[in-house]
Amino acid sequence: MLNPDFPFSYDHFLAHPAGLGSVPEEQYGTEVAIIGAGLSGLVTAFELMKMGLKPVIYEADQLGGRLRTAGFDAAPHVVADLGGMRFPVSGKAFYHYVDGLGLSTEAFPNPLSASTSSTVIELAGAKYYARTEDDLPEFFHEVARAWRAAINDEADFAAMQEAIKARDTATIKRLWNALLVRFDEETFYGFIANSEAFKQAGFAHREAFGQVGFGTGGWDTDFPNSILEILRVVYTDADGGHRSISGGAQRLPEALWQEAPESMAHWPAGTTLESLHSGAPRGAVAKVTRAPDGTLEITERCGRRDRYAAVVSTCQSWLLSTRIDTQESLFAPSMWTAIERSHYMQSSKTFVMVDRPFWKDIDPETGQEVLSMTLTDRLNRATYLLDNGEGKPAVILLSYTWNDDALKWLSLSAEERVELMLHSLKQIYPKVDIASHIIGSPITVSWEADPNFMGAFKANLPGHYRYQQRLFTHFKQDELPEHQRGIFLAGDDVSFTAGWADGAVTTGLNAVWGVMNHLGGACSPDNPGPGDKLAEFGPISLDEPALVEDDGTGAIQ
Ligand SMILES: Cc1cc2nc3c(=O)[nH]c(=O)nc-3n(C[C@H](O)[C@H](O)[C@H](O)COP(=O)(O)OP(=O)(O)OC[C@H]3O[C@@H](n4cnc5c(N)ncnc54)[C@H](O)[C@@H]3O)c2cc1C
Repeated sequence: MLNPDFPFSYDHFLAHPAGLGSVPEEQYGTEVAIIGAGLSGLVTAFELMKMGLKPVIYEADQLGGRLRTAGFDAAPHVVADLGGMRFPVSGKAFYHYVDGLGLSTEAFPNPLSASTSSTVIELAGAKYYARTEDDLPEFFHEVARAWRAAINDEADFAAMQEAIKARDTATIKRLWNALLVRFDEETFYGFIANSEAFKQAGFAHREAFGQVGFGTGGWDTDFPNSILEILRVVYTDADGGHRSISGGAQRLPEALWQEAPESMAHWPAGTTLESLHSGAPRGAVAKVTRAPDGTLEITERCGRRDRYAAVVSTCQSWLLSTRIDTQESLFAPSMWTAIERSHYMQSSKTFVMVDRPFWKDIDPETGQEVLSMTLTDRLNRATYLLDNGEGKPAVILLSYTWNDDALKWLSLSAEERVELMLHSLKQIYPKVDIASHIIGSPITVSWEADPNFMGAFKANLPGHYRYQQRLFTHFKQDELPEHQRGIFLAGDDVSFTAGWADGAVTTGLNAVWGVMNHLGGACSPDNPGPGDKLAEFGPISLDEPALVEDDGTGAIQ
């Protein structure tokens, strides 16, 4: 995703024959700690291993993090993606690894997409059945036109997309730097409500836009978030062209763990992250401190301590204060503010396995499929139908929700959730007995209830640009005081495109550059890296002169 905050072509950087850079030979084998075996941690570890360094990965839970795929008890090969499940093809750094590791993908059945045979929109008790967008009543076309007009008229959508497609960095930055100053303090809802197009269209159109949205479905739970977050999504085409990973998203982190890269510095052929770790990552990190010898010391929950020249933390950054005892002076007070102000979306998903893709059966009375991909203003909000092929059990994602809609499920058991979800669907499809097709137990998740995540993914609130800019640019440490160097942040919530796995990859690559640089290495002049280009077209700072000063000890003056 050529993100307007930092339109660095990570895909070109990755594909360049000169590679991502190198460290001096005397650093070969140097251990670097990576906190978290999610996608970001594994990409970081994989690339550091290729440079001849020795990544040491710590993981509190499962390898894969939020790319977690669960199998149903009754048929473990039938799977459900509990976190990331649909990946836009514009995420080219993400697909560099998917394709490079030989994973196959398939089109994801989003509402009204070509791979979705039918979609039902049910709002305020009225039901609309559509095979394509054209089948929808004029009202929905008016809503779509109002949205298109709002982003074009108020936010240079067409010009920005053209510049992104042409990788015209200067134009992207010129447009974006003006927009972010204008919109940093505007909510998504404020943007919609204040746009001429939606003002003229009226409240019903704004409401329907929130319920039905664009690309992936309803977006009204995003209404309180900064409009900048939404603009990033639409500019980069993250809202469409979605594919899922065959066999489940967790196959990507697993493949990174098991892959023996073709060319590597220092390590013998056949070396993998798995072999470097003797089959399993280290355990959960409890503490990070600066040791008296200047190295960074990691203490595991089980008590084991080890010292490192560099540490990359890829867990949700809130965890650095809530679950990991992180020495305060490792980050400037302004960085701690940025970490603490992170805003995470809540999210829940509930899946059931069914005997077959029965939804394709045709109702003889209506000539329509008996059940469709469904967007509704009822509790479920969005129901996705996941076909595994004829003759195989299929999966229904009964409900995928965010924020308030996710919190409504939080205190309920899986069975209670399913009962309510089936009740909602019964109101929309009175003739269909979904329960009679269900096999075994449901699978449900609420990411905010998991202490190793505490939320699904980041989404900035108005006024948060400054925090994101600090987090994102922290990997370039030449202006930091010595005692704050060597610890790097990466992962979904450090990226400008949180909620998309591509950001976990690209911030991991930033951390790789940071570690390489910290250990005296550099990129080839033919293939400058993210840190080499950050000053040229990186995210601009909106920070005013510091209100608080850092005296070098981390204490606020
Ligand atoms: C519900 C949901 C839906 C999503 N949908 C999509 C989608 O459709 N498309 C898309 O592109 N992206 C999607 N995403 C985002 C995508 O999943 C993330 O961007 C990506 O998986 C984040 O990877 P990461 O490595 O940054 O973080 P994580 O995957 O969170 O990895 C961090 C790791 O750190 C570990 N950890 C935590 N504490 C400690 C500790 N003390 N010590 C050691 N380890 C620790 C965690 O267990 C975790 O494994 C979704 C995410 C969620 C939650």
